[in-house]
Amino acid sequence: MKPIPTPKYSGSISAQLRKDKAAAASPLALPYLASYAPSLQQKVRDWLQAGKAAEWLLRKYPQAHAVRTDKALYDYVDALKAQYLRNAGQLHRVAYDSRIHVVRNALGLHTRRAIAHGGKLNARHEIHVAAMFKQAPDDFLRMICVHELAHIRVMDHDKAFYQLCTHMEPDYHQLEFDVRFYLSYLDTGAEPLWG
Ligand SMILES: [Zn+2]
Repeated sequence: MKPIPTPKYSGSISAQLRKDKAAAASPLALPYLASYAPSLQQKVRDWLQAGKAAEWLLRKYPQAHAVRTDKALYDYVDALKAQYLRNAGQLHRVAYDSRIHVVRNALGLHTRRAIAHGGKLNARHEIHVAAMFKQAPDDFLRMICVHELAHIRVMDHDKAFYQLCTHMEPDYHQLEFDVRFYLSYLDTGAEPLWG
C-alpha cells in the first residue's frame, strides 16, 4: 500500500510561526505614550524598530545640560518660577530623585505640605525630578520643571494646567512627546544617550 501523503512537519516553519504569533500578541508596548493616538504610537514603533531613534534624538538635541547638582537644580527651577510664577510661594526643596524612575508615568513629582506659620497657612512646595534627567538635554529638563511648577497652581492635568505649561514653554507639547519618545527608546534596552 502506498502511504497517504501528509504534510510534513517542518521545524523551521513552526519556529517562524511562533515568532510571528509572539510579535502579533505583544507589539512593542509603549507605556510612556499610552495617552497618544494609536496611529502615532504605531509610527513610534516603526521608528524604534528601524533603529533611527538615537540618531534623530541626538541630531535634535546634541548637548546635555549642565545642571548636575541639587543646588544647581534648585536655582534652575527658582529662576523659572521667578519668571512665570512670581507669587507662587517659596520652593522648599528641589532635588533629583533616583526613586522616581520606578513610577512608570511620573517624570517628576510635586508635593505640597500646608504648614501653619504665624497663624497663616503656607504651602511648602517640593519638586523632585527623576534622576535620569540629570543626564539629559536642557529642553527635557525644562519641560519636566515647567510641568512640576505648573502643579503649584493646578493639581490636575486639565486644560488650565496645559495652558500654564505652554505659557512657560511654548513648545511644551512637542517637548513632552520627545521626552516620552526618549523614555520609550530606553525601554527597548538602549543605553542613555547623554550619559
Ligand atoms: Zn503632572
